[in-house]
Amino acid sequence: MPNSQDILAATGNKSQETEFFNPFPPGYQKGRHKYVAVLGTVMSGLGKGIFASSLAKLLKDKGLKVAPIKMEGYLNIDSGTLNPYRHGEVFVLDDGLETDMDLGTYERLLDQDLTRDNYTTSGQIFRRVLDKERKGDYLGRDVQMIPHVTGEVKYMLRELAVKQDADVVFIEVGGTVGDYENGFYIEALRELAFEEGPTSICFVALTYIIEPKALGEQKSKAAQLGLKKLMEAGVQPHIIACRAQNPVVASVMQKIAMFSNVPLKRVFSMHDRKSIYTIPEAMRETGLDREILGLLDMHERVNVVHEDHSRERWRTFVDLLVGKRRFRARIGITGKYAALRDAYASIDKALEHCGAHLSADLEVQWIDTTRMKEGQEAAEAASRLEGLDAVIVPGGFGVRGTEGKIACVQYCRENALPYLGLCLGFQMAVIEFARHVCGLSGAGSSEFDTVATDHVIDILPEQKKIEGLGGNMRLGGKDVVLKPNTLAAFLFDEREVIRQRFRHRYEVDPRYIPTLESHGMVFSGMHPEHPIMQILELPMKDHPYFIGAQFHPELTSRPLHPHPMFMGVVAAAIRHAHPEIPADQISTRWLPALSPQ
Ligand code: GLN
Repeated sequence: MPNSQDILAATGNKSQETEFFNPFPPGYQKGRHKYVAVLGTVMSGLGKGIFASSLAKLLKDKGLKVAPIKMEGYLNIDSGTLNPYRHGEVFVLDDGLETDMDLGTYERLLDQDLTRDNYTTSGQIFRRVLDKERKGDYLGRDVQMIPHVTGEVKYMLRELAVKQDADVVFIEVGGTVGDYENGFYIEALRELAFEEGPTSICFVALTYIIEPKALGEQKSKAAQLGLKKLMEAGVQPHIIACRAQNPVVASVMQKIAMFSNVPLKRVFSMHDRKSIYTIPEAMRETGLDREILGLLDMHERVNVVHEDHSRERWRTFVDLLVGKRRFRARIGITGKYAALRDAYASIDKALEHCGAHLSADLEVQWIDTTRMKEGQEAAEAASRLEGLDAVIVPGGFGVRGTEGKIACVQYCRENALPYLGLCLGFQMAVIEFARHVCGLSGAGSSEFDTVATDHVIDILPEQKKIEGLGGNMRLGGKDVVLKPNTLAAFLFDEREVIRQRFRHRYEVDPRYIPTLESHGMVFSGMHPEHPIMQILELPMKDHPYFIGAQFHPELTSRPLHPHPMFMGVVAAAIRHAHPEIPADQISTRWLPALSPQ
C-alpha cells in the first residue's frame, strides 16, 4: 500500500483516485511534530479547555513548543456574532480574531499569545473546502466528507504544526463525542493517527463520573458508555481524565481502566478544586506528564532546567493564590449580563490574578444597571455603591443600562471611589464628565442616543478610514502611546508605548478633546499618530484612582503577569478598604504610590 508521502510525491498535492487526499503542507517533517487530542464524553461544559491547557502547560514547562488549537463544531465563522449569554464572552486575539473564552484559558495558562491559526470552526473548514471546489481544485472529483473535509482538518493541523514550529499540537475538539457536528473532526483525528504512525498522537478522553445525591456514591456507567462511543468511532484513548465533584474512588478508577483498555496509572481524577491553577501540579504528581512523554516518545526533548524554573515560578503564584490573604476589598461590577459570570470571564480572572499578587480577598458584587428606575439612577447608584471599595464598568453594546452606568461613574468621581472603565466604561466616563463637569448636559454617544445634542462618543468615518476598517469594529492588538507623568505611565512602568487589545466601534470625538481637557480630564494614552483617545484618567491629586481604557485590559491579564490597570484598581480598593494601614506597610510598588497624598 502506498503511504501518503508517496502519494504526495506522485500527485503533486492533487487529489487522485485514492483515499489519501490532503497530504502534507510544504515543509512538513513527519515525526518532528506530535499531537495530543482532547475529546469530551458524556457532556460538555466540564472544563475540557482547562484540562487541555493544563496538560499543554505541563509540556510547555518542559521547554517544548506547544501550539493549541480549539476546533469548534458550530458553523459560525468566528465568535463575533455569538451572544455572550449563550456562549460566554467573546475573546479577542492579538491578530483581531474573535474567539471564545477557551482561547483565553490557553493564553492565560500558557502565557502565550495565540493567533487565528489556533482556532477553527466547522464553518471555516467547510468554507475552505467549498472555496477549493469552486476553484476546481478537486480535479473533477465528487467532494465528500471523507476524504475532503477530514483531509482539510488534517491539513490545517499539520499546517499549524509547521507554522508555529510545534513540538506538540494540542487539539481540543468542542462538544461531546457522539454529536453530529463534531463527528468529522474525530474521524479526521483517527486518520491522522493512522497516517502519522505510532507514538505520534496521544488521545485523551475527558469523562464525567456522576454522584447522584440519592445514592451517595460515584457511578461510572455514563462514563463507560461515553468512552465506548469514542472507541466505536475507532479511537482508543491513551489517557482518561475523570471529572467529578469529589476525588474519584479507586474502584471507579479501576472500572474505567478495565472497560476502556487504559492502564490505571493513566486514569486521572479531575475533581473540583479550590483553583484550576493547581491542576498542572496535580497532574504532574500522578506522573501524567511522564506518561505523555513516553506515549509520544519525547523524553529526550525535555529541558530540565527550564522545567525547574517554570515550576518554581508557577508554584510561587499558586501559593499566593491558595494562601491566606491579608486584606479584603469589595468590588462592584456593572453589567447587562450581570447574572452570567461567563460573560465576564476575563474580568473575573484578571481580578483573581491581582487578588493573589496583592494578597486580597476580593468580593465581587454585580450591579444590574438595567434594573435601575428611569430618572432614579443617581439615587439607586448611591445606595448600590455605598460600602464598595472600587467599581468596574465593563464593555458592552447598546443603550440598556447606560444611564445607570453613567450614574455609577458620577458617584465614583464625586466620592473618591476607585474606578476602572473598560471600553464602554471608558466611554461612560467621558459622557459623565462632559455632562456634569463640562456642562454639556446633552452629552451622549451616537451608538444609543440619536437625540443627544453633543455626541462626545461617535463613529468617525474619517478615523476609521485611517485603519482601513470601514464601518467595522476596530479589533485586536494596537499600540498605545503613553503620556509621561500620568497614572497610566506609572502603571505601565514609565513605558512609552504599550500594546493592548481592542474591540469597539465608537470613540471620543476629537472636537471635544480641548473642552474635556480644559476641565481636568487627562488623556494619558493615545493612538500613535492620530487624535484617537485610548486611556483617560483624573489627576491623582483630584482622585485616588480614576482611569478608563478604550481597550480591554482584562484580555491580556495573565497569572504571572497581572494587568497593571487591574493591579491598580485592586491596590486602590485595598487602600479604600484599609485606610488605617500605613501605605508603606502594604506593598512596595503599587499601594504607596496610589495612596492619597
Ligand atoms: N459599544 C461600544 C463601541 O462599540 C463599546 C464596545 C465595548 O465595550 N466592547 O465602541
